[in-house]
Amino acid sequence: MPPLVEHLLPWTAERDALTVAYLRAHRTAPVTGDPAVDTHMVPRAIVLHWTAGPTASSAWSTFAPARLSGRAELQGAGALNVGAHYLVDQDGSIQRLVPDDRVVRHCIGLNHVAIGIENVGGAAAHPLTDAQVAADVALIRALAARYPIEVLLGHLELRRMESSPLFEERDPNYRTSKPDPGADFMMKVRAGVVDLGLGAPG
Ligand SMILES: [Zn+2]
Repeated sequence: MPPLVEHLLPWTAERDALTVAYLRAHRTAPVTGDPAVDTHMVPRAIVLHWTAGPTASSAWSTFAPARLSGRAELQGAGALNVGAHYLVDQDGSIQRLVPDDRVVRHCIGLNHVAIGIENVGGAAAHPLTDAQVAADVALIRALAARYPIEVLLGHLELRRMESSPLFEERDPNYRTSKPDPGADFMMKVRAGVVDLGLGAPG
């Protein structure tokens, strides 16, 4: 793995319970009800995001509670908070927030198989940086060497994954439209991992 700092989100019994409830409501495959089973996964996809906010600490604090606050467009689909496995700061430094094999809510339909990488910034005042491109590339390379990763996508490309066998979502009306992390950022990252032959959304 590239150099990174462990800065794990608290994984509480409440997060376990809310994760199981979320998966029960949204997965089409059976959910056992046992958090030790349901909250674990084999990563098969990587989804890149931006935080839109300017700092890593504000993102960490947003992701830390088990329960979602605000985000009216998401509340109806479950009380589990959003999060990510990795947080990449503007200088390219990487924090691990959640172990790779845990289910995190970060992309509709793929949470049971997808590692989420959040990049700090993205708004006009804090555009994503070349250091973040390099860090994402290094991270993706390490993850693809370790897990059977089939596809790399940006959150903005998620709708194009709906015909993939990986995609599971019971509610046909639960969809969001996201701009992150930008088409330009995805193009730069893909150029850095082209030799891995990862799939892209159809
Ligand atoms: Zn996103």
